[in-house]
Amino acid sequence: MNKPELLGRWTKQKSEELYGIKNWGAGYFSISGDGEVMVNASKDDNTAAVSLMDIVSGVRERGLDMPVLLRFENLLDSQISFLNNSFNKAMKKLEYKGEYRGVYPVKVNQQQQVIEEVTKFGQRYHHGLEVGSKPELIAALSLMQDKEACLICNGYKDEEFIDLGLYAVKMGFKCFFVMENPSELDIILDRSKTLGIQPNIGIRIKLSAKAGGHWTDSGGDRSIFGLNVSQLIETVDRLKEKGMLDCLKLLHYHLGSQIPNIRDIRSAVLEATQVYAELVKEGAPMGYLDLGGGLAVDYDGSNTNYTCSRNYSVEEYCSDIVEAVMSVLDTSNVPHPVIVTESGRSTVAYYSVLLFNVLDVEKFEEYDIPEQLDDNASEQIKNLFDVHKSINLRNIQECYNDALYYRDEIRDMFKHGRINLRDRAFSEKIFWNTINQIAKEKKKIKKPLPDLEDLESAIADIYYCNFSVFQSIPDSWAIDQLFPIMPIHRLLELPKRNAVIADITCDCDGKIDRFIDIHDVRTTLPLHDMKNGDDYFLGAFLVGAYQETLGDLHNLFGDTNVVSVRINPDGTYDLVKEIQGDSVADVLSYVEFDPKDMVVRFRKTAEAAIRDGLIKTSDRREIMRAFESGLRGYTYYER
Ligand SMILES: *Cc1c(COP(=O)(O)O)cnc(C)c1O
Repeated sequence: MNKPELLGRWTKQKSEELYGIKNWGAGYFSISGDGEVMVNASKDDNTAAVSLMDIVSGVRERGLDMPVLLRFENLLDSQISFLNNSFNKAMKKLEYKGEYRGVYPVKVNQQQQVIEEVTKFGQRYHHGLEVGSKPELIAALSLMQDKEACLICNGYKDEEFIDLGLYAVKMGFKCFFVMENPSELDIILDRSKTLGIQPNIGIRIKLSAKAGGHWTDSGGDRSIFGLNVSQLIETVDRLKEKGMLDCLKLLHYHLGSQIPNIRDIRSAVLEATQVYAELVKEGAPMGYLDLGGGLAVDYDGSNTNYTCSRNYSVEEYCSDIVEAVMSVLDTSNVPHPVIVTESGRSTVAYYSVLLFNVLDVEKFEEYDIPEQLDDNASEQIKNLFDVHKSINLRNIQECYNDALYYRDEIRDMFKHGRINLRDRAFSEKIFWNTINQIAKEKKKIKKPLPDLEDLESAIADIYYCNFSVFQSIPDSWAIDQLFPIMPIHRLLELPKRNAVIADITCDCDGKIDRFIDIHDVRTTLPLHDMKNGDDYFLGAFLVGAYQETLGDLHNLFGDTNVVSVRINPDGTYDLVKEIQGDSVADVLSYVEFDPKDMVVRFRKTAEAAIRDGLIKTSDRREIMRAFESGLRGYTYYER
């Protein structure tokens, strides 16, 4: 039935499957009929969408170059609605008598624009903010308008911090001080007495439950933050003593970020709700139960309890929490509190997409080597050649070991001057062809071969890309976190190459060689051949949480250009805000260079070169122009 030429035809469906976009995209990302990645304004089926390639050309026409970080307003808006609607639906269905009030933890992405949009889009749900430091509190106060929303103050608090929080209470904000340790109580009570303002006190507790995952050291008995049960009781007694127990209104815990397993979430809620009920029985007014963050993002789309995934949906998260709270409180006749969660990662992860171009490719190709060796070839090269000739399905492990052995021996001989550079180069060609051959045979074998696991990445192409891992996706380097990465166009073509990605820092850690997969972690990423001179663009997705402020200036690559995009209902888009990335002068001034002084010094160097007869006066003008325009330029590779 099938026409032979159609059999191998590559389709958008095949790209969807290969890159898993439907699994991790949460309805926000898809592939168009033209084979380009589309961003959808919401999760709804018929929502407006724009092609990332259209945005690339729009951004470039305006004079901004790659790499560029795009922030999609619509996705932030949609994620806030989704979380609030999911809690509200679960509460309605289970007949919960309290309410949900989400807060956004500022530390997850503190950019002014992000906080401003959270407060704007959050207003219809009274979605508030969580702060963990004085600068974050001050940032929050400058943007918060909604007096129904919560403002949760975690972290170490000095007098100044507490005074500001108390003034917020006086101005009508629902501002809570969450005690991280017992000694904070004195200073809170002292300042509130001095200023004559009643504080809203919350207590952070250590749970005995500890969850699995990357970032979960915040949970467990020995976690560094929060009060243990005896400190909790002591605090209650001290509040009673001072006649201030009526200020105790909130109980908080934070299990850690990215909790992949719903069972850990449930058991923490159950334990904390028991504590909550006890505090009510002690006579505290309470009213708020704050379950912290932890709602995970399914970065690899596998829907499992793997660290980069989660084995539950947002809807399940919400209904499991509501159900667990009710199951404890209804047996002890305690009224349902306002449930607060501090979801950061899941609120902002989808919002940002990093786009970058490929600068160059180092392809792995099979070398041209002769069928037979010269008789005068050295013994070791002959041995290596025999290994190459003898590879078959049964002996690949043995051939691999032998090839390594002979290659090392030849390298050793070279060190001792016993073979020349030309022969050594020839032997390396034989070696790499051998490895390539072994990798091909290995594909036919189903059983795992642990020694040969990294073979694919060893013979992968290297795609050199215009971005810095350290600046833009630091968690990929620091804690091996996986982010979905894929081409944003040419998705109707078969990607024939297997690649690893190198950034432009030239640091051996500046690479990505672990990629998402539903069943495992991939060591290479399928990419398209570079066509002569054509641009090729990749996107790193789900990078909105934690990456921006953790990024650093490794090799002095600075902030990338940032463009904020609003998708309109008719499928057009507006670039709402453009922030030019750091210039070379900017990043140098961060490390205490003074760009003006640098120009003066370099001018002197050029003047001296004139004196020494190395350059002409007119050269000096050209050289200074190049130096000064270099200072003004972007830190990344410019076209
Ligand atoms: C970091 C942090 C959060 C955010 O957690 P996510 O998993 O990103 O939602 C919430 N609360 C506290 C106290 C935190 O420290």
